[in-house]
Amino acid sequence: MYVYLNDRLVPRSEAVVSVFDHGFLYGDGVYETMRCYDGVVFMLDEHLRRLARSASMIRINLPADSDSLKLMVYETLQANKLRDAYIRLTVSRGYGPIGLDPELCPSPTLVIMAEAMKQYPAALYENGIRVAIPSVRRNLREALNPEIKSLNFLNNILAKIEAAQGGAYEAVMLNASGALTEGSISNLFFSKGGVLCTPSIECGILDGITRGIVLELAVKEGLTVKAGEFGREDIYSAEEVFLTNTTMEVMPVSGVDDARYAVGGITRLLHKAYRQEVKAYVEHMKAQGPSIWGYDE
Ligand code: PMP
Repeated sequence: MYVYLNDRLVPRSEAVVSVFDHGFLYGDGVYETMRCYDGVVFMLDEHLRRLARSASMIRINLPADSDSLKLMVYETLQANKLRDAYIRLTVSRGYGPIGLDPELCPSPTLVIMAEAMKQYPAALYENGIRVAIPSVRRNLREALNPEIKSLNFLNNILAKIEAAQGGAYEAVMLNASGALTEGSISNLFFSKGGVLCTPSIECGILDGITRGIVLELAVKEGLTVKAGEFGREDIYSAEEVFLTNTTMEVMPVSGVDDARYAVGGITRLLHKAYRQEVKAYVEHMKAQGPSIWGYDE
């Protein structure tokens, strides 16, 4: 396995970062998770745009422009001979003496890792996963805005630990005002009376790329969509619940705390539409001809 580290590909054993890296010392950095389908990285432009936004929100200058980053992502995939892959691109504040001042780190550290895609078990898509609402609240927007996709993941990890203790697969957090936000690694949707609901960005969530696509697809499918503020009672009384993210796509939820749901028609419809959207995207990219931006024979 090869890893892209700063300016070149190195074997996995040489892919090491200093203990003085502020990503390690302070969780000071940003990242993106992407998925490659049949040699094409899905929504690569959108992921790089969000990376740039996250970096700018914590005042990190990305070490390369978007075109160079694309090239590096595809070089990493090619070096590892991967066509269906999980990709993680991390940019940390970089190497510097101990201390919080960003000026201590002259250059950010860039890491791109790609691994063969490990699919979630089919049974989870058939039966849905169990979710808990933990006592841990989502970070305040005014403290650490969840729109920043940062390396600082303790809020999500604490929520996940609590959910896992109760046997749940994912934790859906409330914000400080008691409104639903998102999962530890996913966005939340639920339907009731034919209306598809999802917490709005203002509730304090990451604006998931999958969430954005699912919202567009839902409108195309003629569903009524409502992004807003909802409480835990809204989800307990929902008919269908599902989660979205880049790797799981659309994951049905079978229960939130003591509430139970069947895997319903809206969830299935949107997952099917999402897969079609991915297929169309991959075909579109391949039709551009073999190029470094997409499929390469
Ligand atoms: N919320 C959080 C906290 C996440 O970590 C993720 C995964 N990146 C998501 C939502 C879903 O985002 P996306 O659809 O862009 O993968």
